[in-house]
Amino acid sequence: MHRRSVIEPKPVTVLRGVGAALAQRLLALGVATTQDLLFLLPLRYEDRTRVVPLGELRAGQRAAVEGEVLLTEVVFRGRRQMLCKIADGSGFLTLRFFYFTAQQQQGLARGARIRCFGEARRGPNGLEIVHPEYRRIDPNTPVAAEDHLTPIYPGTEGVTQGRLRMLVGLALDQCGDVEDWLPSSVLADSRLPALSDALRYVHRPPTDAPVELLLSGRHPAQRRLAFEELLAHQLSLKLLRRRIQSDPGWPLQSNGALKAGLLAALPFRLTQAQQRALLEIEGDLKLGKPMLRLVQGDVGCGKTLVAALAATQAVQAGRQVALMAPTELLADQHAQNFRRWFEPLGIVVALLTGRQTGKARGAVLEGIREGLAPIVVGTHALFQEHVEFSSLALVIVDEQHRFGVHQRLSLREKGASDGHQPHQLIMTATPIPRTLAMTAYADLDVSVIDELPPGRTPVKTVVLAEARRDEVVQRIRTACLEGRQSYWVCPLIDESEEMPYQAAEETAASLAAALPELSVGLVHGRMPASAKEGTMRRFNEGKIQLLVATTVIEVGVDVPNATLMVIENAERMGLAQLHQLRGRVGRGQHVSSCLLLYRSPLSSLARERLAVMRDTNDGFEVARRDLDLRGPGELLGTRQTGLAQMRVADLLRDADLLPRVQIAAETLLRDWPAHVAPLIGRWVGHAEQYGRVG
Ligand code: ADP
Ligand code: MG
Repeated sequence: MHRRSVIEPKPVTVLRGVGAALAQRLLALGVATTQDLLFLLPLRYEDRTRVVPLGELRAGQRAAVEGEVLLTEVVFRGRRQMLCKIADGSGFLTLRFFYFTAQQQQGLARGARIRCFGEARRGPNGLEIVHPEYRRIDPNTPVAAEDHLTPIYPGTEGVTQGRLRMLVGLALDQCGDVEDWLPSSVLADSRLPALSDALRYVHRPPTDAPVELLLSGRHPAQRRLAFEELLAHQLSLKLLRRRIQSDPGWPLQSNGALKAGLLAALPFRLTQAQQRALLEIEGDLKLGKPMLRLVQGDVGCGKTLVAALAATQAVQAGRQVALMAPTELLADQHAQNFRRWFEPLGIVVALLTGRQTGKARGAVLEGIREGLAPIVVGTHALFQEHVEFSSLALVIVDEQHRFGVHQRLSLREKGASDGHQPHQLIMTATPIPRTLAMTAYADLDVSVIDELPPGRTPVKTVVLAEARRDEVVQRIRTACLEGRQSYWVCPLIDESEEMPYQAAEETAASLAAALPELSVGLVHGRMPASAKEGTMRRFNEGKIQLLVATTVIEVGVDVPNATLMVIENAERMGLAQLHQLRGRVGRGQHVSSCLLLYRSPLSSLARERLAVMRDTNDGFEVARRDLDLRGPGELLGTRQTGLAQMRVADLLRDADLLPRVQIAAETLLRDWPAHVAPLIGRWVGHAEQYGRVG
C-alpha cells in the first residue's frame, strides 16, 4: 500500500492564524493537535450545491434559495419580529427574524437580492425560514452555488463554521497521513477505503460525490470511520472489563438461610424469570472473580426483589452491600422495602442520601464504616469521597440508564479494598435490542427477566387532545372515589424556562380547586427533601389520592393502588420515558389506565410515537419502535455513554457493522495489542476511557 509519510501530531498553534485564544476554544471540541482537527468529523452536510427555486421548496427541506426582497417590515405578533418577503418568479418565501439589527433591516430593503440557506417550514402565510443564514448578492453578477457539499462541524462558542472549515482544510493540507491502526485483515470490508483517504473524503467531498449517500451517512468513507469508531468503543469497554477482572473479587459463600427467610416472608413466589436471573447472579457471586452483570427487565418485572435476594448472599458471607438509586425518591422507597424485608431478619439497612447533614449523617457514615449496617441504600452520595465501607463486596446500581456510564464505572475505584473488586449488579428497565446491548454493555454479562409477575392486567392507554381535560378530571374523580389513586404528570414544558416547576404547582392548584373532594399532593425535584418524602409517604399510605408530579416519579415508585396515570404534553416526551412513567400503574389487581394528553397540532412523528404507546405495553416493543422512529440516542439516553454522541457512527444505521466490529475487537486484542491503546485514544474521549491501558 502506498502512503505518504506519517507525521507526528503537532499543536494546533502551528497552523497559520491559530493563537493561544483560539487554541483554547478549540480545546472545548477536544481538539489540541492538528491531527485532532482531522478527527473532528462533520456532523452532517448541507447541500448548497443547488439553488432551489422557491416554487419547488417543500416544508421540512433544508435548502439554498435566492430571491428579491419585496417587503421587509417589523411587526408585533406576540413579540417583536422582522418579516422579509422574497420572490424569485417561481414562488414566494417569508424570512422571519426574532433578533435583528437596524442595519440588517436596511440591508433587506425592497429590491435587494439575497441568497439564503435554512429549513423551510409552514408558516401562517405559506413557507418561511426562521433565522436563515443569508447574504446579499449583486443582482447583475450571478453567483455560483457551492461546488461540493458543505460539512457542518460540531459547534463551540467563539468558533464559526467557516473558521472550522478553514482550519480543517489547513490541517488536511499540512498534516500528511495519519497512522492507520487497523490492519487490512481486520477491516470489515476490503472495499472500504484507507483511513487517510476516508478522512479526506468526508472533510472535502469531491464535486461528483454521491450526495444522497453522503447525506445519509452510508458512504464507504463514512462507514470506514464508523467501523473504526465502534471498534474503539468496543475495545475500551472490553479493556475495562479485563482490568476489573484482573483483580480478585470476594467469593461469597452462603448457606442460604437468609435467602430462605426472606422468601418465606413473601406473600408470593418468584417468577421463573426472576429465578433464572438469580441463579446466574448467585453463580457469579461464588466465584473469586468480580461479577459484572446487567439485569434487564421491563418495568414492574420485580428487579428489586432479585437485588435483595442477591444481597442476602453477601450479607450472609459477612460482607456489605451498597444499593444505588438515581433519585432520592427511589432511594427512600428502596430503603423502606429493604427494611421491611431485612429488619425482621435482624439485618440493619442504612440510608444515605445527599440531603443528610450534620450529626445524622455522621452516624450513618459511622455505621457504614464500622460495618454495623450490612446493607446501605442511597443515591450517588454513596460513592463520594468521605464514604468508607468496612467490607463492601457487592454494588447494585438500579435504573442504570439514569446514571452516566462514568458514575457506574467510578464505583469500581470506590469499592476496591484489600486489592479486591466488589461485584457489580446493574439493573435497567430500558430494554434494548441485542446488538445494541452488546455494544453499549460490552463490559457486562446480561441476564434478562422477560416475564411479569402473574395477575397483572395490562394498562389501557388512551391518547387524548388536551381540550378534553374536563373529561379527564372527571375520570380522576371517579377512580379516586372508588378508592383508587391517580398520578398527574407535568413534564418540563421548556427546559430553558426559568420556573420549570411553576407549571406543576399551578396544575396542582387548579386540580385541587376542580376536585375539592379529593386530597391532592404535589412532588417535584426542587422541593425540600422532607416535603417530598412526606408527600410520597402519604401517597403510599393512601392519604393523598391524586399526586401531581414532574417526571421525578419516572423511576421505581411503586404504589399498587394507583390505577390512573395522566401525562400532560405527552408528545414532548421520549417513548422510553413514557413507558417508564406508565409502569407506575398496573401494579395491583385493579384495571389501570394511562391517559396521554397532547397539545394540538401533532406532528406526524409525534402522532406515530403516541400510537406506539397506545398499541403496546411491551417495553421491548416500545424500544424497538422508538429505535426505528428516532434512533438510539433517545433509547440510550444522552447521559448513557459516549455511544449516544459518537462522531460518525450511528448504532442504528451502522448496526450491520456490529458483529464484525466484535470479531475485529477480539482479533486486535489477541494479535495486535499494541494498536489498541492508540486506537481508543483517537476516538474515545478521555473522560470515557475507563479501560485505559497502562
Ligand atoms: P421493577 O422491575 O420495575 O423494579 P419492582 O421490583 O418495583 O419492579 O416490582 C414491582 C412490584 O412487583 C413490587 O410491588 C413487587 O413487590 C412485586 N413483585 C416482585 N416480584 C413479584 C412476584 N414474583 N410475584 C408477585 N409480585 C412481585
Ligand atoms: Mg425498579
